[in-house]
Amino acid sequence: MDSEVCVLLSGGLDSYVAFRLAQRRHGAENIVGMFVNYGQPYSAKELQAMNSLHLFESQDSEVIYAKANWCADALAGIPTPEKQEIPGRNLLLALYGSLRASEVWISALENEVGGPNTVPDKRPEFFMQTSALLSSILKCLRPTTLVTTPFGQLTKTEVVRLGAMLGISKHDLLNTVSCFDGTVAKPCGVCMACHKRWVAFINNGIDTTSHYLADPCSEKNLYYKKTIPEMKKQVSEGLGRFTPKRIIETHMALLSRGYSLFEWPDHERFTSYPRLYSADELVLLANEGHSFKVL
Ligand SMILES: [Zn+2]
Repeated sequence: MDSEVCVLLSGGLDSYVAFRLAQRRHGAENIVGMFVNYGQPYSAKELQAMNSLHLFESQDSEVIYAKANWCADALAGIPTPEKQEIPGRNLLLALYGSLRASEVWISALENEVGGPNTVPDKRPEFFMQTSALLSSILKCLRPTTLVTTPFGQLTKTEVVRLGAMLGISKHDLLNTVSCFDGTVAKPCGVCMACHKRWVAFINNGIDTTSHYLADPCSEKNLYYKKTIPEMKKQVSEGLGRFTPKRIIETHMALLSRGYSLFEWPDHERFTSYPRLYSADELVLLANEGHSFKVL
């Protein structure tokens, strides 16, 4: 029988908070979680996180381990710091999830949904077109199928803040994993995912000392090295590939290291940027149901 929502899980931060949000909103018994092993090179690390979060032992929601690792050959050498897009991944996940629930949640953040250079399967048109396609071909199961992201308006900083408000401990937030390097025991600190998580943890007062192998807020991090100058240019020139909220969350984290994206003479621009949701606002939005969705 259909569940109300199928949340695609990866052992990562966003999908874990999404799972807990879905449980709160719809009742845990109406939620199914799904981990798909599609041959991603860091699957062992993801499974380790799934286990340390005790997701497969969940008593109140069913959590499924699905195998699609025949895809591994197509993913050989992906991702690397330069090539991070996994072709067609979210379409595969949407199809798997849609066989178990009328609503499928695949996590994508505000900058991934709304940024100009995002991967194709995180854009609003992906969610709309996939929902239309699956609604059409799964008519034999149910009238409509919706594929959406619960975090289409949120930055990772706000997702961590929401997670804390949902009662997730700092320990469990840190126990999620999103690092691209599947060969090392700790988060590498060098990849894009490590830098983004660092920003979100620091902005929520979560101590990351000794969490990473290398400091994610230094030139050892390839993403930091490339994007901080890009963000500074965007702040002064007004055009760039980052959403204003993504700039702000990065700026706030950098302040903890005494560095500002809004240096003189551009510092006055800061006030024209949007602010992030407070914890209280996030709780209100979480209770409202559809507020975070892209559709
Ligand atoms: Zn990493």
